[in-house]
Amino acid sequence: MFDTLQDRLQSAFKNLRGKGRLSEADIDAVAREIRVALLDADVAVPVVREFIANVKERASGAEVSQALNPAQQVIKIVNDELVTILGGETRRIRYAKNPPTVIMLAGLQGAGKTTLAGKLSLWLKEQGKSPMLVACDLQRPNAVTQLQVVGEQAGVTVFAPEPGNGVGDPVQVATAGLAEARRTLHDVVIVDTAGRLGIDAELMQQAADIRAAVDPDEVLFVIDAMIGQDAVVTAQAFLEGVDFTGVVLTKLDGDARGGAALSVRSITGRPIMFASTGEKLTDFETFHPDRMAGRILD
Ligand code: GDP
Repeated sequence: MFDTLQDRLQSAFKNLRGKGRLSEADIDAVAREIRVALLDADVAVPVVREFIANVKERASGAEVSQALNPAQQVIKIVNDELVTILGGETRRIRYAKNPPTVIMLAGLQGAGKTTLAGKLSLWLKEQGKSPMLVACDLQRPNAVTQLQVVGEQAGVTVFAPEPGNGVGDPVQVATAGLAEARRTLHDVVIVDTAGRLGIDAELMQQAADIRAAVDPDEVLFVIDAMIGQDAVVTAQAFLEGVDFTGVVLTKLDGDARGGAALSVRSITGRPIMFASTGEKLTDFETFHPDRMAGRILD
């Protein structure tokens, strides 16, 4: 991920090497190259516009540091702006004062929700928590079984409706799962919900109903980092339909351009909290905006 963006930014900076001072023309030229690099990486247009405006303003402003040459200054400014659009601070899970903490997952089908449920529960176990998974994706015939498989791999309990018994009502399953977690003293409950291939009103309503029923501490919107410009529309639809407290980026191991990763925070105002970087349950990490910016500029 980000290989092309990384190369393009490096070549933009290269033209500044050896310059003693940057003229307005130099700044315009490098800003133009950065703009094209970001657009080619599928970063959303309004995000690019603001990014470039900030870079230009800061590069031509009086923030002249004696310690850095002009090329280094521009790299530092771009780094800072990347950290900003990626969210600034690392945002960690807010656990409930009175357990269980309820974490609900939402997103399109194929985004990687079920896999994430396994990854997150394994990670939570490593943090000393005792998570339980609740299978509320009752749309896709295989979804419950798939969750049971990842639950088993992660070594966590999965609460699922008995086959043929009340299958159909995800809100009821969510409520019963939460009650079961309280009874069995699990301190985190992860509620997996149904996804569809496209955004659809019924799906949104179902997710909103589950949200209302279990009153989650965190609602994580799971988004495939490879979806490019569609990320904006999808993220906005989930923001309006369900609302969410944080974002999980999946498939960051892919070789796509990564625009979703760079846009979703600015578009939604919600922090990116975790990154999923492969198919294995351990391919999962806390998202640190500064480290991600560092990787892009490395
Ligand atoms: P869901 O429909 O949202 O529950 O999505 P799944 O969890 O079933 O994931 C869809 C596909 O993406 C599966 O084949 C997963 O193995 C794969 N997948 C999920 N997360 C990642 C990731 O971070 N990297 C890669 N390469 N594949 C992933």
